[in-house]
Amino acid sequence: MIPVRCPHCHVGLKVDEKKLPAGIRLFKCPSCKEAIPISLLTEEDLCVFDSDFSDTVLIRQPNAGIGKITLLTDGDTNIHSFPLHEGMNVIGRKSAASQATIHIDTGDKSMSREHIRIEVKKDGKQGYKHYLSDNNSKNRTLYNSNYLGEGETIVLNDKDEIVIGHTVLQFSL
Ligand SMILES: [Zn+2]
Repeated sequence: MIPVRCPHCHVGLKVDEKKLPAGIRLFKCPSCKEAIPISLLTEEDLCVFDSDFSDTVLIRQPNAGIGKITLLTDGDTNIHSFPLHEGMNVIGRKSAASQATIHIDTGDKSMSREHIRIEVKKDGKQGYKHYLSDNNSKNRTLYNSNYLGEGETIVLNDKDEIVIGHTVLQFSL
């Protein structure tokens, strides 16, 4: 939540930046119904600008540039998405004994409980890089139809496909 002051009626508001749709430029003040201009910025930009300096509310979108994993199912069941977080993400089959950070609730026993790792790191510019590796899984990991080698780490790109067990995951930004 970030505190915002309406530039029109000066009412103090709290905005949940996680709920703002991407690309939003305006939102309506709940008090005076005037449009409040907003601008989504990176952390670096926020160091340069002072939000008191203009009438535009400057908001950093959290996790901008961090991808997600989508579980692709073959039937007409729901498609699940799992947002990734900065740092180490471990993905595997849901189980009480699993140390994974992302649990997939599945009957696919060929998926290990901690099957793959995706490390999310800042890339030094304004984005993030996503490093995929197999986590010594029993049945290995297919990345875009190739098995990942032991100790191999690859950088994920938008729409890459990862197969763990019989389950197909898609990485997307
Ligand atoms: Zn207002």
